[in-house]
Amino acid sequence: MKLTRKCFLKSSALITGGLFLPGFRFLSAFQEQAFKFTPIRNNIGIFTERGGTIGWYATSDSLVVIDSQYPETAKNLVEGLKQKTPRKIDLLFNTHHHGDHTAGNIVLKDYANKIVAHENCKVLQEKNYGGNPEKPQVYPTATFTNTWGEDVGNEKIVARYFGPAHTGGDSIIHFENANIAHVGDLVFNKTFPFIDPNGGGSIKQWVFTLEEIIKHYDSDTTFIFGHSISDDLLVGAKKDVAAMKDYLNALIEFVSKEIKNGKAKEEIASVSAVPGFEDLKERWQGARKMNLERAYNELAIQ
Ligand SMILES: [Zn+2]
Repeated sequence: MKLTRKCFLKSSALITGGLFLPGFRFLSAFQEQAFKFTPIRNNIGIFTERGGTIGWYATSDSLVVIDSQYPETAKNLVEGLKQKTPRKIDLLFNTHHHGDHTAGNIVLKDYANKIVAHENCKVLQEKNYGGNPEKPQVYPTATFTNTWGEDVGNEKIVARYFGPAHTGGDSIIHFENANIAHVGDLVFNKTFPFIDPNGGGSIKQWVFTLEEIIKHYDSDTTFIFGHSISDDLLVGAKKDVAAMKDYLNALIEFVSKEIKNGKAKEEIASVSAVPGFEDLKERWQGARKMNLERAYNELAIQ
């Protein structure tokens, strides 16, 4: 197993804490660096460790979780949620099938009464991850086509599907009373997104889906994003959704123009910036190049 920096921090904290400093405070101070619960409002917040942002709603009579990250991190989520409520998870949602949003289902299934996702999410999870004994999958127990609504505690929760975008099965989960919407990976805030044509994603369709989201939710809606350039940007507003749409539009416009100019794929993908988005930063090396190449693949076919 590759030891990530966060894992290392956590393991070294455990070792140091055990050998030299048995004090609980020292240990918990380091553990906080490994994972974090951040409240937003109305008992709704986010959990961050590794992988897609997890949303939670926890009260004495309700527990809802959105996405599950990885088995190791889902265990930390469960331990932290136990401090908030003794309940089992009434509802677990998966915003889409990618492993950093669904691999933790295997841990959460023991605490969750129901796992809900868009019907395509389940199909794509089976297709992409099924049949690997090293990574056993837990699939949604209920799926929907257009919308899913359920009241839990004081919240009216509505999941919606607006069409293909980041994958072929992305849903937006809206806590209507708090007016907080988890959009999964439909927004990579202030950074280059992961584009996944094999998972049913499409840049052009992604723009339409973001337009629908901008129309549907109001200006007071708080949005939770699957990924961002830094942890303080995982929660935002409609302007951030609009900025994501503007980036994808700029990507389409630039690559289409270069294709018309007769440029080769390699030449287009090697530019140092997408015009208008010179300051956009990569979360992983090669993200910009990958965006340009996949835009070429999608646009050159016509
Ligand atoms: Zn994703």
